[in-house]
Amino acid sequence: MHTQTWFISYPINNYNVTLNIGNYAHFGEIYTYRDGEKLNLDYYVMPYNLEKAKAQFKQVKPMMECYDKFLGKYPFMRDGYKLVETPYLGMEHQSAIAYGNNYKTGYLGSDYSKIGLTFDYIVIHESGHEWWGNSVSSKDVADMWIHESLCTYTESMYVECTSGPKVALQYINAKKPGIGNDKPMQGPYGVSQEGDGDMYNKGALVFNTFRYVVNNDALWWSTIKGLCDTAFKYKTVDAKEFMDYINKKTGKNLNTLFSQYYQHAAIPQFTYSLKETGKKKYTLTYRWHTDVANFDMPVSLDLGSGTFERINCTNTTQTRELKINRAEKFRIEEDLAYFKVVKL
Ligand SMILES: [Zn+2]
Repeated sequence: MHTQTWFISYPINNYNVTLNIGNYAHFGEIYTYRDGEKLNLDYYVMPYNLEKAKAQFKQVKPMMECYDKFLGKYPFMRDGYKLVETPYLGMEHQSAIAYGNNYKTGYLGSDYSKIGLTFDYIVIHESGHEWWGNSVSSKDVADMWIHESLCTYTESMYVECTSGPKVALQYINAKKPGIGNDKPMQGPYGVSQEGDGDMYNKGALVFNTFRYVVNNDALWWSTIKGLCDTAFKYKTVDAKEFMDYINKKTGKNLNTLFSQYYQHAAIPQFTYSLKETGKKKYTLTYRWHTDVANFDMPVSLDLGSGTFERINCTNTTQTRELKINRAEKFRIEEDLAYFKVVKL
């Protein structure tokens, strides 16, 4: 008979508890934070995968450094961080992440982003859940998006940290083909029902949209870090408390945006027409079409020759006079925020 004890010294969601039984080989290392605090990193893998695992898990230390920058220290310092090989793809069990990505890059070897992925999706995504889901947990599974939208958004923080903001933006926008826009991402309260699976890809695009609206990266990143490292660390939270914190910290009221993106299936639709009124002179007529009333979100215009103009836009039709050198180069910037463009 063999007895094994696994001790968790922090609060834990019941779905984060698991058993992994196998003939594991173990290796480990120590990650040292800038202030000298040390985190134990332990890996349990099949003995025949030991060398592959040693190479693959070299990603963990740089990941911890990036996550520290964007999210703060690993939330479960006393319990340590572990990756445990499993026969299934992955799961964010608290401080014992199930790893089954076959030691491959991307998602089982596939580069779903088409940007030349260099990281192991399961290591990056499931580890992100230690902050989003395991430390900050939704009060009701209706708000499971707090786990998945933020965790998917965290993937892009890792890309921004390792490859810069331009590549991170490409990474986020590469999520678009995986979005259905068929059902709301927030479920109904009180009936144990999650919202739509769009909470992953669309949710990441929505948080990138919030960043665009806030228009102050330092403030935005301190807000994201504040959510998981201060305000709701080891706590349960609902959508209202989550958005109240974001609104207070950023000084923006993002409630109508939240409602349109999370409580409705459709994304905002920007309609516009462009009319020539003189030499290089145009009148732009534009507005938002949304399910919610009083939708208010800026839009960036690409006037060609590297000139951008950020304009305010609401549900009311507005006009704006523009000077455009080459009308054929005019376009609406669609990578910074997530919406549909219709040219009338
Ligand atoms: Zn996830």
